[in-house]
Amino acid sequence: MSSTTAVLDQSEKKSLKRESPARGKMHAAVVEQFGKPLVLQEWDIPSPGAGQILVKTEACGVCHTDLHAANGDWPLKPTLPFIPGHEAIGLVVAVGSGVTIVKEGDRVGVPWLAHTCGICRFCLSGRENLCLRPRFTGWDVDGGYAEYVVVEEAYAYALPAEFDDVEVAPLLCAGIIGYRALLRAELPEGGRLGIYGFGGSAHLTAQVALARGARVHVMTRSREAQQLALQLGAASAGDADAAPPEPLDSAILFAPVGTLVPPALAALDRGGTLAIAGIYLSDIPALDYEQHLFEERSLRSVTANTRQNGEEFLAEAARIRLQVSTVSYPMERADQALRDLREDRVNGAAVLVV
Ligand SMILES: [Zn+2]
Ligand SMILES: [Zn+2]
Repeated sequence: MSSTTAVLDQSEKKSLKRESPARGKMHAAVVEQFGKPLVLQEWDIPSPGAGQILVKTEACGVCHTDLHAANGDWPLKPTLPFIPGHEAIGLVVAVGSGVTIVKEGDRVGVPWLAHTCGICRFCLSGRENLCLRPRFTGWDVDGGYAEYVVVEEAYAYALPAEFDDVEVAPLLCAGIIGYRALLRAELPEGGRLGIYGFGGSAHLTAQVALARGARVHVMTRSREAQQLALQLGAASAGDADAAPPEPLDSAILFAPVGTLVPPALAALDRGGTLAIAGIYLSDIPALDYEQHLFEERSLRSVTANTRQNGEEFLAEAARIRLQVSTVSYPMERADQALRDLREDRVNGAAVLVV
Protein backbone atom coordinates (compact mmCIF):
# COMPACT_ATOMS: atom_id res chain seq x y z
CA MET A 1 0.00 0.00 0.00
CA SER A 2 1.29 3.48 -0.73
CA SER A 3 0.50 6.85 0.76
CA THR A 4 -0.76 9.38 -1.72
CA THR A 5 -0.82 12.73 0.04
CA ALA A 6 1.54 14.84 2.05
CA VAL A 7 0.82 16.17 5.53
CA LEU A 8 -2.54 17.93 5.63
CA ASP A 9 -2.93 21.33 7.22
CA GLN A 10 -5.83 22.14 9.54
CA SER A 11 -8.25 23.44 6.85
CA GLU A 12 -7.60 20.46 4.61
CA LYS A 13 -8.28 18.12 7.53
CA LYS A 14 -11.67 19.76 8.05
CA SER A 15 -12.74 19.39 4.44
CA LEU A 16 -11.45 15.83 4.47
CA LYS A 17 -13.69 15.11 7.44
CA ARG A 18 -16.81 16.39 5.76
CA GLU A 19 -16.46 14.86 2.34
CA SER A 20 -16.51 11.19 1.70
CA PRO A 21 -13.22 9.97 0.28
CA ALA A 22 -12.61 9.97 -3.44
CA ARG A 23 -13.41 6.71 -5.16
CA GLY A 24 -10.93 4.05 -4.13
CA LYS A 25 -9.47 6.21 -1.37
CA MET A 26 -9.75 6.05 2.40
CA HIS A 27 -8.83 8.22 5.35
CA ALA A 28 -6.16 6.88 7.68
CA ALA A 29 -4.19 8.09 10.69
CA VAL A 30 -0.61 7.38 9.67
CA VAL A 31 2.76 7.19 11.44
CA GLU A 32 5.10 9.00 9.02
CA GLN A 33 7.96 9.56 11.46
CA PHE A 34 8.64 7.97 14.85
CA GLY A 35 7.87 10.25 17.78
CA LYS A 36 5.92 12.73 15.62
CA PRO A 37 2.11 13.26 15.69
CA LEU A 38 0.02 10.93 13.55
CA VAL A 39 -0.93 12.44 10.19
CA LEU A 40 -4.39 12.18 8.65
CA GLN A 41 -3.94 11.09 5.03
CA GLU A 42 -5.82 9.68 2.06
CA TRP A 43 -4.53 6.26 1.08
CA ASP A 44 -5.68 3.81 -1.55
CA ILE A 45 -8.25 1.37 -0.22
CA PRO A 46 -6.37 -1.96 -0.08
CA SER A 47 -7.77 -4.85 -2.07
CA PRO A 48 -8.02 -8.29 -0.49
CA GLY A 49 -5.68 -10.91 -1.93
CA ALA A 50 -6.17 -14.68 -1.88
CA GLY A 51 -7.54 -15.78 1.49
CA GLN A 52 -8.02 -12.19 2.63
CA ILE A 53 -11.03 -10.05 3.42
CA LEU A 54 -11.58 -6.29 3.25
CA VAL A 55 -13.19 -4.82 6.38
CA LYS A 56 -14.88 -1.41 6.61
CA THR A 57 -13.70 -0.26 10.03
CA GLU A 58 -16.28 0.98 12.55
CA ALA A 59 -14.10 1.13 15.67
CA CYS A 60 -10.52 0.38 16.66
CA GLY A 61 -9.08 0.05 20.16
CA VAL A 62 -5.97 2.03 21.13
CA CYS A 63 -3.34 -0.11 22.81
CA HIS A 64 -0.04 0.73 24.55
CA THR A 65 1.74 -1.19 21.80
CA ASP A 66 0.43 1.39 19.27
CA LEU A 67 2.06 4.09 21.35
CA HIS A 68 5.42 2.29 21.36
CA ALA A 69 5.12 1.50 17.64
CA ALA A 70 4.40 5.17 16.82
CA ASN A 71 7.26 6.35 19.02
CA GLY A 72 9.71 3.77 17.69
CA ASP A 73 10.48 2.98 21.34
CA TRP A 74 11.72 -0.55 20.87
CA PRO A 75 14.81 -1.89 19.05
CA LEU A 76 12.55 -3.65 16.54
CA LYS A 77 10.50 -1.04 14.67
CA PRO A 78 7.76 -1.12 12.04
CA THR A 79 8.65 0.09 8.54
CA LEU A 80 7.55 3.69 7.88
CA PRO A 81 5.00 4.85 6.94
CA PHE A 82 2.42 2.59 8.57
CA ILE A 83 -1.14 2.60 9.94
CA PRO A 84 -1.31 1.42 13.58
CA GLY A 85 -4.20 -0.36 15.29
CA HIS A 86 -4.80 -4.03 16.09
CA GLU A 87 -8.23 -4.04 17.71
CA ALA A 88 -10.32 -3.18 14.64
CA ILE A 89 -14.03 -3.98 14.36
CA GLY A 90 -16.05 -3.71 11.18
CA LEU A 91 -18.12 -5.28 8.44
CA VAL A 92 -16.72 -7.36 5.63
CA VAL A 93 -17.22 -5.50 2.33
CA ALA A 94 -15.18 -7.67 -0.06
CA VAL A 95 -13.54 -11.10 -0.03
CA GLY A 96 -10.54 -12.38 -1.96
CA SER A 97 -10.31 -15.64 -3.85
CA GLY A 98 -10.37 -18.81 -1.78
CA VAL A 99 -12.25 -17.23 1.13
CA THR A 100 -14.71 -19.87 2.26
CA ILE A 101 -16.27 -19.05 5.64
CA VAL A 102 -16.50 -15.29 5.98
CA LYS A 103 -19.09 -13.50 3.83
CA GLU A 104 -19.75 -9.90 2.87
CA GLY A 105 -21.77 -8.24 5.65
CA ASP A 106 -20.28 -10.35 8.47
CA ARG A 107 -19.04 -8.42 11.51
CA VAL A 108 -15.45 -9.37 12.34
CA GLY A 109 -12.56 -8.37 14.56
CA VAL A 110 -9.05 -7.74 13.23
CA PRO A 111 -6.53 -8.63 15.96
CA TRP A 112 -2.77 -8.33 16.63
CA LEU A 113 -1.95 -11.75 15.23
CA ALA A 114 -2.15 -11.25 11.45
CA HIS A 115 -0.30 -14.34 10.20
CA THR A 116 1.74 -17.30 11.37
CA CYS A 117 3.86 -19.55 9.16
CA GLY A 118 2.08 -22.80 10.00
CA ILE A 119 5.22 -24.88 9.49
CA CYS A 120 7.73 -23.93 12.21
CA ARG A 121 8.21 -26.15 15.27
CA PHE A 122 6.03 -23.82 17.36
CA CYS A 123 3.16 -23.64 14.88
CA LEU A 124 3.28 -27.41 14.52
CA SER A 125 3.07 -27.94 18.30
CA GLY A 126 0.03 -25.73 18.98
CA ARG A 127 2.12 -22.73 20.05
CA GLU A 128 1.59 -20.35 17.14
CA ASN A 129 2.01 -17.42 19.56
CA LEU A 130 5.74 -18.27 19.45
CA CYS A 131 5.87 -18.60 15.62
CA LEU A 132 9.29 -17.83 14.15
CA ARG A 133 7.87 -15.90 11.19
CA PRO A 134 4.72 -14.14 12.41
CA ARG A 135 3.15 -10.93 11.11
CA PHE A 136 1.30 -8.48 13.30
CA THR A 137 -1.49 -6.02 12.48
CA GLY A 138 -0.62 -2.34 12.82
CA TRP A 139 3.06 -3.30 12.72
CA ASP A 140 4.00 -5.58 9.80
CA VAL A 141 0.71 -5.00 8.01
CA ASP A 142 -1.41 -1.85 8.09
CA GLY A 143 -3.91 -1.67 10.91
CA GLY A 144 -7.25 -0.29 11.98
CA TYR A 145 -6.65 3.46 12.34
CA ALA A 146 -8.21 3.68 8.88
CA GLU A 147 -11.57 3.38 7.18
CA TYR A 148 -10.63 0.02 5.69
CA VAL A 149 -8.31 -2.78 6.74
CA VAL A 150 -7.37 -6.08 5.13
CA VAL A 151 -6.98 -9.27 7.17
CA GLU A 152 -6.50 -12.94 6.39
CA GLU A 153 -9.81 -14.73 6.82
CA ALA A 154 -8.17 -17.31 9.08
CA TYR A 155 -7.06 -14.66 11.59
CA ALA A 156 -10.27 -12.58 11.81
CA TYR A 157 -12.58 -13.29 14.73
CA ALA A 158 -16.33 -13.74 14.58
CA LEU A 159 -17.70 -11.49 17.34
CA PRO A 160 -20.36 -12.17 19.98
CA ALA A 161 -23.56 -10.16 19.37
CA GLU A 162 -23.66 -9.28 23.09
CA PHE A 163 -21.17 -6.44 22.55
CA ASP A 164 -21.39 -3.34 20.37
CA ASP A 165 -18.45 -2.27 18.19
CA VAL A 166 -16.86 0.06 20.75
CA GLU A 167 -17.24 -2.41 23.63
CA VAL A 168 -15.81 -5.36 21.78
CA ALA A 169 -12.75 -3.55 20.36
CA PRO A 170 -10.62 -3.65 23.54
CA LEU A 171 -11.39 -7.34 23.96
CA LEU A 172 -9.29 -8.12 20.89
CA CYS A 173 -5.92 -7.35 22.48
CA ALA A 174 -6.33 -6.13 26.07
CA GLY A 175 -8.87 -8.89 26.68
CA ILE A 176 -7.19 -11.76 24.88
CA ILE A 177 -3.70 -11.04 26.25
CA GLY A 178 -5.09 -10.77 29.77
CA TYR A 179 -6.86 -14.08 29.25
CA ARG A 180 -3.63 -15.74 28.15
CA ALA A 181 -1.85 -14.21 31.16
CA LEU A 182 -4.53 -15.77 33.38
CA LEU A 183 -3.87 -19.17 31.77
CA ARG A 184 -0.10 -18.70 32.21
CA ALA A 185 -0.63 -17.79 35.89
CA GLU A 186 -2.26 -21.23 36.38
CA LEU A 187 -4.96 -20.01 38.72
CA PRO A 188 -6.42 -23.04 40.51
CA GLU A 189 -10.19 -23.52 40.94
CA GLY A 190 -11.43 -21.03 43.55
CA GLY A 191 -7.85 -19.74 43.97
CA ARG A 192 -6.38 -16.48 45.22
CA LEU A 193 -5.23 -14.15 42.43
CA GLY A 194 -3.14 -10.99 42.76
CA ILE A 195 -3.36 -8.37 39.99
CA TYR A 196 -0.61 -5.73 39.81
CA GLY A 197 -1.67 -2.68 37.79
CA PHE A 198 -5.33 -2.19 36.87
CA GLY A 199 -5.82 -0.68 33.40
CA GLY A 200 -7.60 -1.78 30.23
CA SER A 201 -6.38 -5.37 30.24
CA ALA A 202 -6.48 -6.03 33.99
CA HIS A 203 -10.06 -4.87 34.53
CA LEU A 204 -11.23 -7.43 31.95
CA THR A 205 -9.07 -10.27 33.28
CA ALA A 206 -10.23 -9.65 36.86
CA GLN A 207 -13.84 -10.18 35.77
CA VAL A 208 -13.00 -13.52 34.14
CA ALA A 209 -11.22 -14.68 37.31
CA LEU A 210 -14.07 -13.50 39.55
CA ALA A 211 -16.65 -15.26 37.38
CA ARG A 212 -14.59 -18.42 37.82
CA GLY A 213 -14.87 -18.07 41.59
CA ALA A 214 -11.42 -16.67 42.35
CA ARG A 215 -10.69 -14.27 45.21
CA VAL A 216 -8.98 -11.29 43.58
CA HIS A 217 -6.61 -8.80 45.22
CA VAL A 218 -5.66 -5.72 43.21
CA MET A 219 -2.48 -3.71 43.75
CA THR A 220 -2.34 -0.35 41.93
CA ARG A 221 -1.29 3.21 42.69
CA SER A 222 -4.41 4.76 41.12
CA ARG A 223 -7.23 5.45 43.60
CA GLU A 224 -9.77 5.44 40.73
CA ALA A 225 -8.57 2.03 39.60
CA GLN A 226 -8.72 0.72 43.18
CA GLN A 227 -12.34 1.85 43.34
CA LEU A 228 -13.20 0.22 40.01
CA ALA A 229 -11.57 -3.01 41.25
CA LEU A 230 -13.73 -3.05 44.39
CA GLN A 231 -16.87 -2.25 42.35
CA LEU A 232 -16.15 -5.21 40.10
CA GLY A 233 -15.89 -7.50 43.12
CA ALA A 234 -12.23 -7.59 44.13
CA ALA A 235 -11.74 -8.72 47.74
CA SER A 236 -9.16 -6.01 48.37
CA ALA A 237 -7.43 -3.12 46.61
CA GLY A 238 -4.15 -1.66 47.84
CA ASP A 239 -1.07 0.23 46.72
CA ALA A 240 1.08 -0.97 43.83
CA ASP A 241 3.72 -2.67 45.99
CA ALA A 242 1.52 -3.42 49.02
CA ALA A 243 1.36 -6.95 50.41
CA PRO A 244 -2.04 -8.57 49.73
CA PRO A 245 -4.01 -9.65 52.83
CA GLU A 246 -3.38 -13.35 52.11
CA PRO A 247 -0.80 -15.42 50.18
CA LEU A 248 -1.52 -15.78 46.46
CA ASP A 249 -1.82 -18.92 44.34
CA SER A 250 -1.30 -16.84 41.21
CA ALA A 251 -0.42 -13.30 40.26
CA ILE A 252 -0.36 -11.28 37.06
CA LEU A 253 1.85 -8.24 36.59
CA PHE A 254 0.13 -5.87 34.14
CA ALA A 255 2.09 -2.74 35.04
CA PRO A 256 5.29 -2.60 32.91
CA VAL A 257 7.28 -2.02 36.09
CA GLY A 258 10.11 -4.46 36.84
CA THR A 259 10.50 -3.24 40.44
CA LEU A 260 7.12 -4.85 41.18
CA VAL A 261 8.43 -8.34 40.36
CA PRO A 262 10.08 -8.95 43.77
CA PRO A 263 7.04 -7.89 45.87
CA ALA A 264 4.72 -9.89 43.56
CA LEU A 265 6.90 -13.01 43.92
CA ALA A 266 7.15 -12.49 47.69
CA ALA A 267 3.34 -12.36 47.85
CA LEU A 268 3.01 -15.87 46.32
CA ASP A 269 2.24 -18.88 48.44
CA ARG A 270 4.47 -21.96 48.05
CA GLY A 271 4.10 -23.32 44.52
CA GLY A 272 2.55 -20.07 43.26
CA THR A 273 3.02 -18.58 39.79
CA LEU A 274 3.61 -15.00 38.67
CA ALA A 275 2.89 -14.23 35.00
CA ILE A 276 4.15 -11.01 33.41
CA ALA A 277 1.52 -9.88 30.90
CA GLY A 278 3.31 -7.02 29.16
CA ILE A 279 5.26 -6.96 25.92
CA TYR A 280 7.71 -4.63 27.66
CA LEU A 281 9.00 -4.52 31.26
CA SER A 282 11.50 -2.15 32.88
CA ASP A 283 14.54 -3.77 34.53
CA ILE A 284 13.88 -6.34 37.26
CA PRO A 285 16.01 -5.75 40.35
CA ALA A 286 18.11 -8.57 41.80
CA LEU A 287 15.99 -11.37 43.25
CA ASP A 288 16.62 -13.15 46.52
CA TYR A 289 16.40 -16.87 45.86
CA GLU A 290 14.96 -17.82 49.22
CA GLN A 291 12.43 -14.99 49.45
CA HIS A 292 11.31 -14.85 45.82
CA LEU A 293 11.76 -18.21 44.09
CA PHE A 294 12.41 -21.04 46.53
CA GLU A 295 9.49 -23.33 47.46
CA GLU A 296 8.68 -23.72 43.80
CA ARG A 297 7.49 -20.23 43.00
CA SER A 298 7.46 -19.69 39.23
CA LEU A 299 8.01 -16.59 37.13
CA ARG A 300 6.68 -16.65 33.54
CA SER A 301 6.24 -14.28 30.64
CA VAL A 302 3.39 -14.03 28.13
CA THR A 303 4.01 -13.70 24.39
CA ALA A 304 1.10 -12.85 22.08
CA ASN A 305 -1.67 -15.47 21.89
CA THR A 306 -3.01 -18.31 19.83
CA ARG A 307 -6.24 -18.00 17.86
CA GLN A 308 -7.71 -20.61 20.17
CA ASN A 309 -7.03 -18.34 23.17
CA GLY A 310 -8.92 -15.58 21.35
CA GLU A 311 -11.91 -17.74 20.49
CA GLU A 312 -12.17 -19.14 24.02
CA PHE A 313 -11.89 -15.72 25.57
CA LEU A 314 -14.56 -14.10 23.35
CA ALA A 315 -16.98 -16.93 24.12
CA GLU A 316 -16.35 -16.64 27.87
CA ALA A 317 -16.60 -12.82 27.75
CA ALA A 318 -20.04 -13.10 26.14
CA ARG A 319 -21.17 -15.79 28.58
CA ILE A 320 -20.27 -13.76 31.68
CA ARG A 321 -21.31 -10.48 29.96
CA LEU A 322 -18.02 -8.75 30.69
CA GLN A 323 -18.29 -5.05 31.54
CA VAL A 324 -15.98 -3.02 29.32
CA SER A 325 -15.23 0.54 30.31
CA THR A 326 -14.25 2.62 27.25
CA VAL A 327 -13.45 6.19 26.26
CA SER A 328 -14.26 7.02 22.61
CA TYR A 329 -12.36 9.33 20.26
CA PRO A 330 -13.14 10.16 16.61
CA MET A 331 -10.45 8.74 14.31
CA GLU A 332 -9.31 12.29 13.50
CA ARG A 333 -8.21 12.54 17.14
CA ALA A 334 -6.14 9.35 17.14
CA ASP A 335 -3.08 11.33 18.10
CA GLN A 336 -4.87 12.81 21.13
CA ALA A 337 -5.89 9.29 22.18
CA LEU A 338 -2.25 8.17 22.05
CA ARG A 339 -1.14 11.24 24.03
CA ASP A 340 -3.82 10.62 26.69
CA LEU A 341 -2.74 7.00 26.94
CA ARG A 342 0.91 8.00 27.34
CA GLU A 343 0.00 10.42 30.12
CA ASP A 344 -2.23 7.89 31.87
CA ARG A 345 -5.33 10.04 31.37
CA VAL A 346 -7.62 7.30 30.01
CA ASN A 347 -9.81 5.61 32.63
CA GLY A 348 -10.72 2.38 30.84
CA ALA A 349 -9.83 1.47 27.25
CA ALA A 350 -9.47 4.14 24.54
CA VAL A 351 -11.36 3.34 21.31
CA LEU A 352 -11.34 5.23 18.00
CA VAL A 353 -14.69 5.54 16.27
CA VAL A 354 -14.03 5.54 12.54
ZN1 LIG B 1 -2.40 -4.48 21.94
ZN1 LIG C 1 5.31 -20.62 12.66
